[in-house]
Amino acid sequence: MSHPPVSVASRRSTRQIMVGKVPVGGGAPVSVQSMTVTKTADVEGTLAQIYALAGAGADIVRCTCNETAAAEGLAQIVPRSPVPIVADVHFHHEMALAALEAGVSCLRLNPGNLRKPAEIKNIAAEAKDRGVPIRIGVNAGSLHPELYKKHGGATPEALVESAQMELAYFAEVGFDDVKVSVKASNVALMIEAYRLLADTVDYPLHLGVTEAGPPPGGLIKATAGIATLLAEGIGDTIRYSLTADPVEEAKAGRQLLEALGLRERKGLDLIACPSCGRAEIDVIGVAKAAQSALEERNLPIQVAVMGCVVNGPGEAREADLGIAAGRHRGHLFIKGKIVRVVPEDEMVEALVAEADHIVAEGVEARLAAADAGAEAAAEDDRRALLESQGDDVNSSEERIELIHKWLEEE
Ligand code: SF4
Repeated sequence: MSHPPVSVASRRSTRQIMVGKVPVGGGAPVSVQSMTVTKTADVEGTLAQIYALAGAGADIVRCTCNETAAAEGLAQIVPRSPVPIVADVHFHHEMALAALEAGVSCLRLNPGNLRKPAEIKNIAAEAKDRGVPIRIGVNAGSLHPELYKKHGGATPEALVESAQMELAYFAEVGFDDVKVSVKASNVALMIEAYRLLADTVDYPLHLGVTEAGPPPGGLIKATAGIATLLAEGIGDTIRYSLTADPVEEAKAGRQLLEALGLRERKGLDLIACPSCGRAEIDVIGVAKAAQSALEERNLPIQVAVMGCVVNGPGEAREADLGIAAGRHRGHLFIKGKIVRVVPEDEMVEALVAEADHIVAEGVEARLAAADAGAEAAAEDDRRALLESQGDDVNSSEERIELIHKWLEEE
């Protein structure tokens, strides 16, 4: 029986802003952001990266606007970009004004290094006239020195107060087209700061663990922070800050949202068992081969690679499609039902062909096209494996007996 997809907690309600054509907050789908690492003045190189990021799942892309040549680059990039562009501005208030002139869809200001009230209000007034939103991007590492002193460090309260100070300047010119972030590289600090911020303001929140570092550590830190908050309903747009090709950031962001049920699956979701003593194949090798063959096609389905037919089809019965090994054969299954048995060296090929069929024809049609004897053949293999390997394939019973023997002898 099918059931509705499970998602995480209900989302915190916020105001909504528009970053170009992308709504953020106010019940809009959580969006994925990334940032280019090219020189913004390199128009063609930056556009190529923006297209790659959009292809990998980024809804919004940020580019630095750190010098006049970057602002000039933005003027050429913005009209040709497939996604809205955010200009990242630090220190130089005139760069924010130049980016607005270049036509960007959003500004990111760092209150820690753009601190003159008159300049902040000037930028906000200009953004207001043009209908362009601003992200108040507070960062623990570049916190306003006075707040650092007042709070005795970069505490959650200090980060939130920094955002509130900026909001107060904006309010003086009647500007509230805002989203806010309070990032830190310390995951626990970041989580607490966002929780406090969510209790304090009703603006949409941009989540991120700053300077998370290279994968896999960076991925783990960013996921720990972002996923924890999303699971509590906090967060409207996210960015993984990885020391890696930014395409990896966009992919990670997209995959996290899909894994939490916050965005519809757009690409492949490959699941695989961790393998164990019962495995009949090199699960890691087959899973990698299947992933690279299927990723090229970017099919929006869940595919399982399971090491044995004894447990595989049952454990992965929620997958659209899967394959399990046994007695030198691959057992292809759809929604847990065996539809074909193929030679072991054709497993990946068969999996990819069936994935194409499922996307073209649908699950029901492919179940109807199952080979007549497939279920029975798989059952034979399953029984034979159980008989040869037994229920205790990892020899736990035997080991426990030996442990007892040693203990008795002591
Ligand atoms: S029992 Fe089979 S499916 Fe489960 S981990 Fe072991 S090999 Fe994989």
